[in-house]
Amino acid sequence: MDTPRTKVTAIAGDGIGPEVMRATQRILEAGGARIEWENAIAGGEAFRKGIATGCPQETLDSIASTGLALKSPLETPVGFGEKSANVTLRKFFELYGNIRPVRELPGIRTPFSGRHIDMVIVRENVEDLYAGIEYEQTAGVAECLKLMSDPGCERILRLAYALARAEGRSKLACSTKANIMKMSEGTMKRVFERISGDYPGITPSHVIIDNCAHQLVIAPEQFDVVVTSNMNGDIISDLAAGLVGGLGIAPSSNLGDQAAMFEAVHGSAPQIAGKGLANPTALLLAAVMLLRHIGDFAAAGRIEQAVFVTLEEGRNLTGDIAAPGAGTGTDAYTDQVIANLGRISSMPSRDYQPVVMPHWADEVWHQAPAARELVGVDLFLESGEAPEALAASLQQSLSGSAFTLKMLSNRGTQVWPPAGGHSFLIDHFQARLLLPAPTPGDADGEIAELLGRLAGSHRWMHLEKLQRFDGRDAYAKAQGEG
Ligand code: NAD
Repeated sequence: MDTPRTKVTAIAGDGIGPEVMRATQRILEAGGARIEWENAIAGGEAFRKGIATGCPQETLDSIASTGLALKSPLETPVGFGEKSANVTLRKFFELYGNIRPVRELPGIRTPFSGRHIDMVIVRENVEDLYAGIEYEQTAGVAECLKLMSDPGCERILRLAYALARAEGRSKLACSTKANIMKMSEGTMKRVFERISGDYPGITPSHVIIDNCAHQLVIAPEQFDVVVTSNMNGDIISDLAAGLVGGLGIAPSSNLGDQAAMFEAVHGSAPQIAGKGLANPTALLLAAVMLLRHIGDFAAAGRIEQAVFVTLEEGRNLTGDIAAPGAGTGTDAYTDQVIANLGRISSMPSRDYQPVVMPHWADEVWHQAPAARELVGVDLFLESGEAPEALAASLQQSLSGSAFTLKMLSNRGTQVWPPAGGHSFLIDHFQARLLLPAPTPGDADGEIAELLGRLAGSHRWMHLEKLQRFDGRDAYAKAQGEG
């Protein structure tokens, strides 16, 4: 009797999406993968139907029921218009782990050929700047909130360790910008230090993200698994893909507790869409990751080896990876991979084991400090006044209130009292207003009184509490602040 087929939602996507999806599905079928496809739409087709999220309910329902999706690229308007349907899918299903393997492939010549690059970039996928919480605070000043949480970091770090174990890898580098963003990026570094002892046999290290980019170029072979935050990971995983031949061959998975979505790293390549020129390797290797995820290691290995043989022999490659002038099209390449099924390349497949995902309770994570005090507030103000004048008018308004003005900063640099140096000033000031002494609790009454007395005299758009948790300052100082 035939093995039952696993249901997978297939999203053919935009641009070259349908072409690379067709090619991938043909190779999977020929390679013996037991998959039943449930076709669904997202991206451009959904936007054109007026679905603002780019993700119709039927598509979300299909992924919720199969728990698995193979997705072609979806186009996103750049710098305007609706949010990315890709990001919506990742966030809707809480696909917090973006796994991007980067491996030198046979037959693909790059300046880094022969360096034995073989690493996995593990990127946090739902927090950080890509949470997409943005505001224009004044008519010319925009803000994007960078949210990084303790459990968000712990989940991705434990997933990175689980993946390292499953793939028999021995080193995990956590890469952050904790030297500058000591609280947000610093959370990831601190959690990394807290949990790394749970994984004997895997050597942890920390590398600052800009040096990580530098090291990836000068000595990429040193890396085994790299784990990092969302935007850092987006950038360095594209950089790393470039080392081994580019986006056309780079696969990825998006893993969460309830669902997993597999896709190419590249986009919809509108310039070559519909011409039969697209390279399906990235989506195909993503499908190989899907097969391993569902435990079909045999079909995964067979298809991966057929791709390696095809690349090694260099016959019927698509134009992006073929020798100059020797490129063929998607169909010829697909036929060649199918013809090579059953053959073994000189490049070994890794000995993959299932990734044991850490389990997280399905409840609101909340960690209250034992002691909570309020030191004051930062009030973000729109003003075209010079710092001295703004400070004077604020002090006048504050007369008789619980708060005193400690300093004004402009884009994070103290500009009143003057701290030396010369800042270009914009109409967005941070006023640090302190209570006479740290006050237990939230001081909401004092804050309400403060806002009442500033109403009409000062235009504010954002207030942050200056909190102390268990005796520790939970806010950053401005540049130059004493
Ligand atoms: P892109 O990846 O589509 O194209 C970059 C370059 O690589 C182009 O020259 C393209 O022709 C080439 N290329 C990409 N994939 C290829 C393939 N399989 N075979 C041969 N050549 C290939 O990047 P872009 O131009 O920045 O983005 C185009 C659209 O794709 C945008 O709307 C963007 O938002 C979207 N996008 C989607 C995803 C996703 O769905 N995950 C990822 C990135 C970009």
